[in-house]
Amino acid sequence: MWDTFTKPGADPDKQFEQVAFVKSFGHYDWYFGSAEYLDTATKKTDRHVLDSIAQIDRHGKNYVFVVDMDGNVILHPDTGEYGTKITYVHRLPHSDWIVGSGFFMEDLYKEIDKQKVAMYESYTKEYTSLLVQVLLITLLSLLISFFISRMLKRSFKKYRIDIADKTRKLEVLNETLEDKVRQRTGELEKLATTDALTKIHNRYSVMQILEQEVRRAKRYKLPLSVMMYDIDHFKKINDRYGHDVGDSVLTELTRLVERVLRDVDTLGRYGGEEFLIIMPSTYKEDAKTLADRLLELVRGHEFKYVGELTISLGLAQLETKESKTQFFKRLDQLLYRSKKSGRDRLSY
Ligand code: GH3
Ligand code: MG
Ligand code: MG
Repeated sequence: MWDTFTKPGADPDKQFEQVAFVKSFGHYDWYFGSAEYLDTATKKTDRHVLDSIAQIDRHGKNYVFVVDMDGNVILHPDTGEYGTKITYVHRLPHSDWIVGSGFFMEDLYKEIDKQKVAMYESYTKEYTSLLVQVLLITLLSLLISFFISRMLKRSFKKYRIDIADKTRKLEVLNETLEDKVRQRTGELEKLATTDALTKIHNRYSVMQILEQEVRRAKRYKLPLSVMMYDIDHFKKINDRYGHDVGDSVLTELTRLVERVLRDVDTLGRYGGEEFLIIMPSTYKEDAKTLADRLLELVRGHEFKYVGELTISLGLAQLETKESKTQFFKRLDQLLYRSKKSGRDRLSY
């Protein structure tokens, strides 16, 4: 129930609004009621609201203030701090109060700085942890690669030693093989150029040497003397004593002839019992001395089984314009002359 009343202690002519609660007791036709002046109630409510607002964030730095629509300060707690603030204001519904709250810019910056430090610390921590991880991984990979490389090195070394060993063996084998080939080649060469019975140069070899010596003598204008000898009546020896004895005579005579030869001379078997002595750098006169000695030697020798025998010789010195064939033919004719003129002699 709304009504207006005077107020004790106030202007008696002035009416004040009151809000009242009234209850009727019908039986007696009475009304009981109680009322409060509206401005007093409003003041009380306002006080209560303001107290409640003042309680907000009592412990924090943020404060709450209230102003009315005309800008009059209704609530403004004094924190004793002054500075630039960012403030948010809101008009309370159904009133002319504006409630506001804010914070100092300084605090904002301080907070930003604090966050920055925290962020930097967290960044440093993460960075350090990352660095440690990277270092650990690097160290681990280094260790692994070290061990792998050591393993590889060891096996490479083993292979190298193996290869060196095999190479050495191969080289030894190769040398042995080369030696054998050389030896065998020498043997074959010797076999191909040696007379099987007398072990001196065979026909092929002695004729080659003759060709070489003729060429050399012509080129360097050196004297070259060659002797050809043949056993006298050899057929008779064969006929009387047999072929084997004939063979032994051939060998024995060869050993005898070798005794009077010089190192540079070559003795070869040209035919059955015909022999050649090649004497490089030798004049006919010097060769004649050797031929005489040879005749003497054979004459004075007692051959096994057969006793004495003689040989016939032909001796020639290569002439400047003479070919090997002409030279050889001349030599043959000289030997023939010795045979014809009675044997056991030298023709030159
Ligand atoms: P000359 O005095 O004229 O030389 O008479 P010769 O009997 O020696 O005649 P010739 O030189 O023509 O005879 C050579 C003989 O030598 C013929 C052959 O039976 C013999 N003869 C050839 N080669 C060999 C051989 O390797 N061994 C033996 N035992 N006899 C050979
Ligand atoms: Mg003969
Ligand atoms: Mg003969």
